[in-house]
Amino acid sequence: MHRINHIHNSMSCFLFNEIVFGPVLSRRLGISLGINLLPVNKKLCTFDCIYCECGWSIKPIENHMNFHLLEDVKSALELKLKTMHSEGQELDNITYAGNGEPTLHPDFKSIMLHLVMLRKKYYPKAHISVLTNGSTLSNISVIEALNMAEFPIIKLDTGSEELFRAINQPLVNIKRADIVELAKDAHISNKVIQTLFLRGTYAGKNIDNTNSKEVESWLRDIEYIKPHSVMIYSIARKTPAKDLFKVDTEELEAIADKVRALGIPTNTY
Ligand code: SF4
Repeated sequence: MHRINHIHNSMSCFLFNEIVFGPVLSRRLGISLGINLLPVNKKLCTFDCIYCECGWSIKPIENHMNFHLLEDVKSALELKLKTMHSEGQELDNITYAGNGEPTLHPDFKSIMLHLVMLRKKYYPKAHISVLTNGSTLSNISVIEALNMAEFPIIKLDTGSEELFRAINQPLVNIKRADIVELAKDAHISNKVIQTLFLRGTYAGKNIDNTNSKEVESWLRDIEYIKPHSVMIYSIARKTPAKDLFKVDTEELEAIADKVRALGIPTNTY
């Protein structure tokens, strides 16, 4: 995913073995503490993106929904924030990321409420971000939780259903068009769209979400969703599918300029 830029030297796919990890220095988010609400050393997601830095998703996901207990998450958060604060460490951002889709946690809203309280106590200036793939936006408690974050960041990588299926490989019954509608209708302030651009081949299919047809369709949906801002990036680490290639910064900037022309602030990473 759902990955803040973390310090990681190995070229293998990467799973977190803690509830709270970091802080790490992220190009996007500054000094950032990560929260992994998914089981440790296991990836659970409603998507199986071919570029996911966590590796392939466990399938079917329903059999593996043994999440951290609410009390364990609360105490891990308090311990980390209290320790960092007492050591005088700086913190810009607290980000839900980790081994899959964070909003799958059944207590996501309660955890967010607790985090907002802890943030006020220890780091009132830090922002809260959530990296989500958008597949749970029909859940009202997820929307309520996302509204407590300064940066609810929703994934939209493609301009077509066909490429959505090829790149994001949803494991639940959801269409790309559903996510576009949910993202548009969701009453979330400050919603951000993030998009990963890539090229290559996978399972005999040509993968390229940078071609003009895809980008034009994606742009129409960005305009329709009207996010507060857009984040554009490409592959930075090893991907579970081979034969995928990074899109260079100049090309990302050219795409970003098209979004900026719609009046939507856009950054490339
Ligand atoms: S949405 Fe995609 S990239 Fe994010 S955790 Fe799931 S499979 Fe990985």
